[in-house]
Amino acid sequence: MKYDNLREAIEKSSKIVFFGGAGVSTESGIPDFRSANGLYHAKQEYGRSPEEMLSARFFETETETFFDYYKKNLIAKDARPNKAHKALAKLEEIGKLTAVVTQNIDGLHQMAGSKKVYELHGSVLRNTCRGCRKHYDLDFILDEKNCVKGVPICPACGSVIKPDVVLYGESLDSNCISQSIDAISRADMLIIGGTSLVVYPAASFVDYFNKGAAGHTLALINMSATAQDEWADILINAPIGEVLGEVVGVE
Ligand code: ZN
Repeated sequence: MKYDNLREAIEKSSKIVFFGGAGVSTESGIPDFRSANGLYHAKQEYGRSPEEMLSARFFETETETFFDYYKKNLIAKDARPNKAHKALAKLEEIGKLTAVVTQNIDGLHQMAGSKKVYELHGSVLRNTCRGCRKHYDLDFILDEKNCVKGVPICPACGSVIKPDVVLYGESLDSNCISQSIDAISRADMLIIGGTSLVVYPAASFVDYFNKGAAGHTLALINMSATAQDEWADILINAPIGEVLGEVVGVE
C-alpha cells in the first residue's frame, strides 16, 4: 500500500499535532498569494507586492486598496474543505490528534469539523470594529451595503471594521502562540503539511517538537522541498489532500 510508513506512524501515535500552511488549502481552490502566480497578479493589477498590500501600514494609509485586494484575493467564499481537512477532523474525532496549528486564515479546518484549531495568522471569518470592538462575520463585511467604497463600516459607531487577520508588521496573538507551542511540545507525532516552512516566526514552532524521544515521528508532506527535510522521519512529496485522504480513509 502507498504511504505505509505514514499509516503505521499514525496508528501508533496518540498525540498527533498537525502544522499546516497554504498548500493545505490549494486543493480547495484557495490560491497562495505568496506563489509566483499570486505575486505576478498583484504586481500586474496593483503595482505592489502582496506583502506590502497586506501590511498594517497599508491598511492604515490605503484602506480602500487594501480591501479591494483583500476581498478579491484572500476571500474564497465558495471554498470547501478537502480531504486533508476532513482527514484531520477525523483523526481528532477518533482521539488521535490533539491540535491543528495553521498559518491559513480560511476557516476550512473548522468547517471540516476540527475543534482544536490554532490559527496563527487569524481568520477571515472574524472581523472586529476598531472603534467599539463589535464583531462581524464575513458576510457582513462582503455586503456592499455595509461598505463605503469597499471599506466595511460599523453601523454602531461608524469606525472601520478590520478583519481579524494578522497583517505584516503586526505580531501574532501571544495566547495562540503559547497554546500552539504547548501542543507541539507534548505531541508524539508532528505532521507538517503544505508549507515550505519559510514564513517566520511560525516556521520556528516546529523546533518545539521533541523529535529525539523514543517513538516520536516527524512527518513532512509537501509538494516541494522544505527547510526541514533533513530532519524528517517520513518525507512525502505529494499533494497533502491525496496523502491524508488515502491514509486516513476519507472521501
Ligand atoms: Zn463600532
